[in-house]
Amino acid sequence: QFLVSFSPTGSNVVGGTNRGRLLQNLNQSLAKFIDKMFFDKSTEFQKKNYVYCFDRNAFLFYCYVNDENEIHSLIGYLSNECFRLVNEEKVKIWVQPFFGICKVEENTSLTANIENALIAKTQSEKNIESYSYFKPAFMSNDTAVADDILKGIENGEFIPYYQAKFSLKEKRFVSSEVLARWKTSDSVIGPSKFIERAERSGLLNVIDMSIFESAMKDLGDNIKRGRRVMPVSVNFSLYEFFSRNFLNHIVDTLQKFQVPPTMLEIEITETTSQVNKFLSLSVIKKLKDIGVRILMDDFGIGFSQIENLRQIPFDAVKIDKSFTDKIVGDEKSRTIVKFLIELIHSNDMEAIIEGVETKEQLDLLRKMKADTIQGFYYSRPIPFDSFNELLKANNFEKEVK
Ligand code: C2E
Ligand code: CA
Ligand code: CA
Repeated sequence: QFLVSFSPTGSNVVGGTNRGRLLQNLNQSLAKFIDKMFFDKSTEFQKKNYVYCFDRNAFLFYCYVNDENEIHSLIGYLSNECFRLVNEEKVKIWVQPFFGICKVEENTSLTANIENALIAKTQSEKNIESYSYFKPAFMSNDTAVADDILKGIENGEFIPYYQAKFSLKEKRFVSSEVLARWKTSDSVIGPSKFIERAERSGLLNVIDMSIFESAMKDLGDNIKRGRRVMPVSVNFSLYEFFSRNFLNHIVDTLQKFQVPPTMLEIEITETTSQVNKFLSLSVIKKLKDIGVRILMDDFGIGFSQIENLRQIPFDAVKIDKSFTDKIVGDEKSRTIVKFLIELIHSNDMEAIIEGVETKEQLDLLRKMKADTIQGFYYSRPIPFDSFNELLKANNFEKEVK
């Protein structure tokens, strides 16, 4: 068995909105191609031998095959399609497909194999080679780069900040989102400065789990002290979702801090391919069964997420900040947001709007019947103590008629 990671241009060359959109189109075309490929009887690839998903900006294939030649056929097949798409000028983007291959050894975890396949892909990118097999030696580089993150984790420097979400109907804060911050003696830095590096060195999962634990601990404390509490939402990447003990870990942690599952929400992005959908559906159903709410993050900017609305039973959908930014000046954006909110409502889901900074935006969104608002207008992400103060002070709730 093998784990193969693949991205059509390498992960280092993305940048700029236009380029990002082109890359997204390319990935979308490839996703369609891959879905079809496994059903195509004229190829040697049998659907039952492959599981694949798109995450961490790469396609990930779990291949239940013993013949290494088949892996090389797969690589050839996907590379050809990349170049074909470019020649057809469907995608105006520089394409150089890179692959990382990890041979799956016995008693290794799925997460570790994914990490190793991604590390191998990074090596391919560095050497501008089509593919590389994972070697433990590759790790030393990445580990060295992530040494400070690892130390930070050990020293408990990754801490939760909370951003409140305001319900327009109930006129009060109804939940919050926990966001990771890296706090050292002289600075507090946000995820844009460390998430990608943590991802690459396989440490994001550790950070996420520690933020999740801290959030549950804080919530449990507030419950015990009889303080005002409300649900908190946590960000997880899809690949963490798929690791075998994810569910157990969630349940154990809730129990450990005596937090009812209804107090937990999970925000997820990117549910692209059929397989992603299939896998995530089963995990989502189990989480929902115990009372955890599931939110779709960054709605409107990913793949064909509109379709997902009908297929995945989300409780709430968060419309991305990039829309909020434009609604005041731009009629077209207003129409889109209004439409998205209606769409969300017609699926009986809650519409949450991210990144609201001004009164003008708020007024427009209220007219469009948005349910819940998250943004600097109400509060920035703040440390736990300040967050408790915010809830106690209640200023907004008094102010709004
Ligand atoms: P996100 O999940 O879309 O989170 C919302 C981001 O928008 C946060 O950025 C928040 O500070 C910012 N934001 C909220 N309201 C406003 C506003 O009115 N104006 C502006 N300009 N920004 C606003 P942050 O904290 O920098 O996080 C960035 C991203 O990093 C998050 O985007 C999320 O995808 C990721 N992230 C944060 N914490 C974690 C974590 O613990 N685990 C994982 N896997 N990802 C995380
Ligand atoms: Ca989020
Ligand atoms: Ca977002």
